[in-house]
Amino acid sequence: AEKKVKIVDAPEGVSGPGYFAGSFDKIIGLARSYSLWPLPFATSCCGIEFMAIQAANYDLSRFGAENMCFSPRQADLLMVCGTISKKLAPVLKRVYTQMAEPKWVMAVGACASSGGIFDTYSVLQGIDKVIPVDVYVPGCPPRPEQIIEGFMQIQEIARNESLRRRESAEYKELLKSYEIS
Ligand code: SF4
Repeated sequence: AEKKVKIVDAPEGVSGPGYFAGSFDKIIGLARSYSLWPLPFATSCCGIEFMAIQAANYDLSRFGAENMCFSPRQADLLMVCGTISKKLAPVLKRVYTQMAEPKWVMAVGACASSGGIFDTYSVLQGIDKVIPVDVYVPGCPPRPEQIIEGFMQIQEIARNESLRRRESAEYKELLKSYEIS
């Protein structure tokens, strides 16, 4: 007898007895979003708040980000927490460049997003002056809940990103505008 194929709730997939079929983009996106390896680029007070999200009360591991990764070669999420001086900017850019694609960037707190209260000659007025940013988390410092909210937005972006985006002319143009090849 012919077996019926059930269309599951998620519009991107179909399932039947013993199988599930979905779009490759969606399945890879789902896997990526729950296995992010963050690299904490923490320079000041926001870094302290960042530590809280890995401790027992907030526990970022629940979202699949078990491994804090201090090697840019292995990380895929750059979390910039704190004030970035202009002198440090080339280092940040180099760390970003050393990360393999696909990669995402979160500006955690006012300093990383815009320079914050440090409107001075020596402080970078937002990390998006030197690298592309995917999510900005406001606050001085942001609460751990806000950082987690930002992390969940990165998950959302990773989940819905086409596998072809990194090869697209638009993305290459974006990197070129930051003088990143
Ligand atoms: Fe410190 Fe506020 Fe800047 Fe965060 S945003 S690094 S808490 S001054």
